[in-house]
Amino acid sequence: MTRPTGRAGTRLGVDVGGTDTKWVLLDGDTVVDSGTVATPPGPDETMKLVAALAAPHVESIGMGLPGHVDRDTGTALFVPNPPGDWDGYPAGPRLSALTGVPVAVVNDARAFALAELLLGAARGLSDVLFAVLGTGVGGAVALRGEILVGPRDNVGEVGHVTVDPWGSPCCCGNRGCVETLAGGPGIVRAFGAGPASAVAAAARAGDERAVSVLAKAGWALGIALGDAASLFGARAVVVGGGVSGALDLMGAALREELGRRRALIGDIAVLPAVLGPRAGAIGAALYGGRSG
Ligand SMILES: [Zn+2]
Repeated sequence: MTRPTGRAGTRLGVDVGGTDTKWVLLDGDTVVDSGTVATPPGPDETMKLVAALAAPHVESIGMGLPGHVDRDTGTALFVPNPPGDWDGYPAGPRLSALTGVPVAVVNDARAFALAELLLGAARGLSDVLFAVLGTGVGGAVALRGEILVGPRDNVGEVGHVTVDPWGSPCCCGNRGCVETLAGGPGIVRAFGAGPASAVAAAARAGDERAVSVLAKAGWALGIALGDAASLFGARAVVVGGGVSGALDLMGAALREELGRRRALIGDIAVLPAVLGPRAGAIGAALYGGRSG
């Protein structure tokens, strides 16, 4: 493992994923070091990994988890994807005990959103919706320049808006969520081959079924973001995540759904995220620096 370089006063941000864990070191708002490692087999091992990354110069740690957390206690509540049993795990206290620095534990999509809001595609905007297209579909809401959190760090889950009540089962227990159509596995399932980037390539080469699968993904996302805009109000949506490379192929259907609701929600800009795969780790570092 490569240990981070940096000077005293830097902030460590870690984005724990189902397979990979990304980290960044922020000096001010600048990334001075970053890396990616395989996600360890369980939460205890993950805490040891992060503690090793932190020593000895960081002043705070932010950890993004792909699920719901209790920010007040730093406890993982519903984190189904990374290896091991995370639910109920006191990540914040454990990591703080190992490192001696303040730790913030946050949802990964909210971390992505904070980074894109303060430093990325939504810089200068205050009322914004976010969607993160990956294996899952995460989301977040910013109002008046603040990312909404809620009691389980679960506000803004646009990926779990129902678009087909009779659709495929979703990991959340519901059926026909946006995630079942616009997440990577859903796109691959609908097309019958993968990965999602290959479906996008097929669509660009003129494969009509691939075009249709991605249009349906955009349609589902547009319904969710349009409904979210009806609930919260927003000037823009920012779309990122590994599958968002196909945003151009989803964009027309997405914009059509937003446009259908124009009388209600006004004109909404669709902006690609700009910070890339490190956005979640950058946002986690920013939250860590806020010390809760
Ligand atoms: Zn769902």
